[in-house]
Amino acid sequence: MENKRKKPILLTAFGGNALIRSGQKGTAEEQIENLNMPMKQIARLSRKYRVVITHGNGPQIGNLLLQQESCDEVPKMPLEIIGAQTQGQIGYMIESSLETALFETGINSEQYFATLITYVLVDEDDPAFQQPTKPIGPFYTKEEAAGLSYNMIKTAKGHRRVVASPKPIAIVAHREIKKLIEMDFIVICCGGGGIPVIHKERKFCGVEAVIDKDLASSVLAREINADIFVVASDVDGAAIHWGSPDQRLLKKVPLDEMEQYIQEGHFPAGSMGPKVESIRQFFSNTGNRGIICKLEDIEKAIGGKAGTEIIK
Ligand code: ADP
Ligand code: MG
Repeated sequence: MENKRKKPILLTAFGGNALIRSGQKGTAEEQIENLNMPMKQIARLSRKYRVVITHGNGPQIGNLLLQQESCDEVPKMPLEIIGAQTQGQIGYMIESSLETALFETGINSEQYFATLITYVLVDEDDPAFQQPTKPIGPFYTKEEAAGLSYNMIKTAKGHRRVVASPKPIAIVAHREIKKLIEMDFIVICCGGGGIPVIHKERKFCGVEAVIDKDLASSVLAREINADIFVVASDVDGAAIHWGSPDQRLLKKVPLDEMEQYIQEGHFPAGSMGPKVESIRQFFSNTGNRGIICKLEDIEKAIGGKAGTEIIK
């Protein structure tokens, strides 16, 4: 009999393109259709691995914010509640497409799933709160922006609301997540980087911020002792001299060489920076495999034939 307890744990962090491809509006049909290819891979991988899935929520939270900004008749919800909504909607779409993929591949029709509303602890004194950097939601004209009570920044395409992006310290329910994995659930969690909370006396309180989903996933990967951590996005991996004629895709990179590239500034904050940092932290702390790859290449990357991986 198959001994599921012995299967290694695979944590995959999905980027925005797993659900909405560039140029798409993000209809429900599009998102379900897009999930088909990645979930087929996850279904096949679930034969060999116990699977944990994390994901981004940028476009989904953007659409919900736009919906609420377009209507004054119902009360506006704070960011943490909208974040929770996206964890629910995306978790549902992932569960249902993964279930279909498992069924179609004839793998396991009795797989259990658990999507968790996930709280992620941040530090109230994180300097990020003094300097909000993460743009969210719709674009506004200068006049519209002036009438809003949010912190705003000016971007190339217009004015946007901006919030802090503090460092994740711990996934509040990591022990429970570990238990669910041990009970053979496929766990979907840390959506959009999780709901940022701080400790206030003896309880947790939600705060207005957005945690980077790759950094939150890295904390979780460490806490649940993942054997492999894959960050799946829309590029083949991390490149040095990105966007210049000298651009070169990194394949297997020794840790000290990667640290050198980080210092030289090859990976910008808000996109490739946190991905590289997330596998760097994971590898330095556990010695386990952390890989950045293209959504299409998850299985190939696990087989050592695609993506960017840090080695000794
Ligand atoms: P995700 O939604 O998967 O988190 P992001 O847009 O945040 O994706 O990050 C991936 C993007 O990072 C790529 O599409 C690419 O345009 C950009 N990028 C910036 N610097 C680099 C680099 N050095 N190597 C590869 N991609 C980079
Ligand atoms: Mg990103």
